[in-house]
Amino acid sequence: MDMTCLPDNPYLLLTPGPLSTTKSVKAAMLRDWCTWDDDYKQLVQEVRTKLIRLATAKSDDYTCVLMQGSGTFSVESIISTALPESGKLLVLPNGAYGDRIVQIAKTLKIDCVFNDSGELEPPDLEKLEATLKEDKVITHVAVVHSETTTGMLNPIEKIAQIVKKYGKLFIVDAMSSFGGVPINIEAMDVDYIVSSANKCIQGVPGFGFIIAKKATLLQCKGQARSLSLDLYDQWNTMENDKGKWRYTSPTHVVRAFHQAMIELEEEGGITKRTERYRTNHRTLVDGMRRLGFQTLLPDAYQGHFITSFYSPESERYSFKTFYDLLKQKGFVIYPGKVSKASAFRIGNIGDVYPADMERLVKAIEASMFWKD
Ligand SMILES: *Cc1c(COP(=O)(O)O)cnc(C)c1O
Repeated sequence: MDMTCLPDNPYLLLTPGPLSTTKSVKAAMLRDWCTWDDDYKQLVQEVRTKLIRLATAKSDDYTCVLMQGSGTFSVESIISTALPESGKLLVLPNGAYGDRIVQIAKTLKIDCVFNDSGELEPPDLEKLEATLKEDKVITHVAVVHSETTTGMLNPIEKIAQIVKKYGKLFIVDAMSSFGGVPINIEAMDVDYIVSSANKCIQGVPGFGFIIAKKATLLQCKGQARSLSLDLYDQWNTMENDKGKWRYTSPTHVVRAFHQAMIELEEEGGITKRTERYRTNHRTLVDGMRRLGFQTLLPDAYQGHFITSFYSPESERYSFKTFYDLLKQKGFVIYPGKVSKASAFRIGNIGDVYPADMERLVKAIEASMFWKD
């Protein structure tokens, strides 16, 4: 397809999703698809199979379910469906997305406890072990992998070891990391891992996906506390009707995602994408430190997807003015979300390259109005 007719984006989205996508991903949406037609269902099946392969070599033990809505809908579909009536969830929050899992459980009236380590610290492994030793009623443990609130990458391998030592089911919100760092779910014995179309796979927003251990999901029939977010039922229809969704599916978004997965392969898979994101991140942080900015997190905790920087201390600084100046120069950044410090965030995932990060640092240098 000739893509020269497609308009250029007025700016790069340096936000953790939706993010900047390629023209070819956007162009894939320029036709209509029937939601129950075999051509379309075939596309859905391909996407499901490829997603499982990205997460594990033991494809037969796992299955993949696509779910309408933003990422939170998919997280809610897991929590709503995975826990039996007698189940109890332990969450290890250290930011807004971990808090959201707690909020989902509370809304659904699911028995839930949480070990909050604070926004600036990873989950406390000793406390996790102590909690699991003490509270035998806990059945499931949930954690966020890349906590987008700060950019912290939580140590899911170490957490998995403890969770599995006590025989609990393990739920991982890998929303903003899946596809952008190698994750081996069978090595960690993860039961559910969740991400969405508009993060590291570089599609457009509209659905999420859950990769679940088949043996675990098969036990969840009739457990869901929601009709439209029933993960078991969605799987049942998708599996037995070979790619059919229960209700209207986001056909254009799925088509774009299918194209995004081809482009991930063309880039060289997750290994190469990880390298690009890491180089983006390095280029960004090195440049920002040269300009005098400080990262919120120490490097040891920092992931390579999104970075929080302390706001400049000057009284003349305002995020809004800074944001507007950068937007005029072609970059959209993200406000801070931590409660205890004034910060802003810059994402480096999406169709974004080290050269863009270098241009960004120059644009930031030229936008430090509080220095004049
Ligand atoms: C983006 C994201 C989500 C989902 O957010 P939505 O706005 O519902 O798409 C959940 N968890 C994490 C860690 C995220 O980065």
